[in-house]
Amino acid sequence: MRLTVLGSSASYAAAGQACAGHLVQDGGTAVLLDCGNGVLANLATVLDPLRLAAVFVSHGHPDHFLDLYALQALLRYAPQGPAPPLDLHLPPGHFERMRCLLSERGAAEFAAAFRAHELVDGMRVEAGDLVVEPREVDHGEHAFALRVTDGAATLCYTADTAPGPDAERAAAGCDLLLAEATLPEQYAGAAAHMTATEAGALAQEAGAGALVLTHAWPTNDREEMRALAAEAFGGPVSVAREFDTYDVVPHAEDPTDREER
Ligand SMILES: [Zn+2]
Ligand SMILES: [Zn+2]
Repeated sequence: MRLTVLGSSASYAAAGQACAGHLVQDGGTAVLLDCGNGVLANLATVLDPLRLAAVFVSHGHPDHFLDLYALQALLRYAPQGPAPPLDLHLPPGHFERMRCLLSERGAAEFAAAFRAHELVDGMRVEAGDLVVEPREVDHGEHAFALRVTDGAATLCYTADTAPGPDAERAAAGCDLLLAEATLPEQYAGAAAHMTATEAGALAQEAGAGALVLTHAWPTNDREEMRALAAEAFGGPVSVAREFDTYDVVPHAEDPTDREER
């Protein structure tokens, strides 16, 4: 199972970046986790978007879904004719909220482009060779971390979340933790997000094999983020950059090994 970063920015994208978007591939299966502004162009750089098996939207903040409108146009007006409806998994009520922005005709086209499914905490969703399990996290509205497994290894994408028991439950035992680290350190606790230090502590608490920080505030110093998270975690840490790839493989389970190092 391979992770490709398509968008690593929080809220707005700096030059050359995009908002939330991460591609997970295993064999012939490709699923997209979040589809924020700028993600579709980056996706098209690495994969024909028509080959997606499913899209998962973690929550209803614009930096996580805006390019679904663009994806809808791509699907509906594909050169070979309208694509079959694409499975789209998103929080309860969000599909209708998105359609409200469109004209009557646009809303009908939007509904025809996707097969919408509501995310339910703990309900496993099969997408080709992958299984995705949403876990509700603490972000002030319905937001779901997404655990993705190929049967051997597990990736946990935290989505946007405050630190705490919900995030720990979502991340428990994962091989690769793709964690949001939105907040500059001096803003810890100011919003339902994590700092790099908090994301590192979450990886440590969860016994994750490795940590990749994403959803970074565009002006944050990413090397400093990496260093702070590594100090809190004690395991390998990277900061996501557009088009970086990570192989997700099983890790040795015993977290006490790491504490002793
Ligand atoms: Zn966000
Ligand atoms: Zn959010």
